[in-house]
Amino acid sequence: MPVSLTCPSCGHIIKQVTRSPQIVVCSACNSTNLLVSGRLEEIGESAILTEYPSIFEIYKTYRHKDWKFTPVGRVRYDYGDGFWDEWYVRSDGGKENWISVDEGDIAIEALAHNNIKVPQFNEIHVGGTLMINRVKMTVIEKNSCTMIGAQGELPFKIVPNDTYNYIDLLGPKRVSFTIEYQGDRVDCYKGVWIDPFEITEA
Ligand SMILES: [Zn+2]
Repeated sequence: MPVSLTCPSCGHIIKQVTRSPQIVVCSACNSTNLLVSGRLEEIGESAILTEYPSIFEIYKTYRHKDWKFTPVGRVRYDYGDGFWDEWYVRSDGGKENWISVDEGDIAIEALAHNNIKVPQFNEIHVGGTLMINRVKMTVIEKNSCTMIGAQGELPFKIVPNDTYNYIDLLGPKRVSFTIEYQGDRVDCYKGVWIDPFEITEA
């Protein structure tokens, strides 16, 4: 059952749909709020420019093959030459995934929970290869990005203008693997590149 939260800066009633978001962005005033013991605390402002056409709309349900999902949050990252969006999506069964959208390129990804050992950011070079879970993958991008906007509910703490380093790898059968380096923290996301035309409204 959705929980109602009150925006601390404008008083707007926000409907919480995921179980334990850490960040909730107010749709009325764009303030970014931390959810602490059922209450919102403002940490900054973060607007996503919605004039750009987007493949998804928040809280609408979509389908990819047999999988039905609803975008509940989004983070936008600037990587210098442009930006991409990470959509936080919730499946019918409650499972959560990420969908990365960079213009026409779409990858469905999930946090890789098992302990994957990866080299340091500085030790990795574009064009090189890495063995990830015994699968040989090629480094296709090495860059840093800045969080420039957010929308909806998110499962981790994001701060507007936070920067981190990342590595994108590509494996056989369009498998994607992303390594994010943020301070001492390293997160890996495993996924697959899909054809955008396979996504339909549910
Ligand atoms: Zn508000």
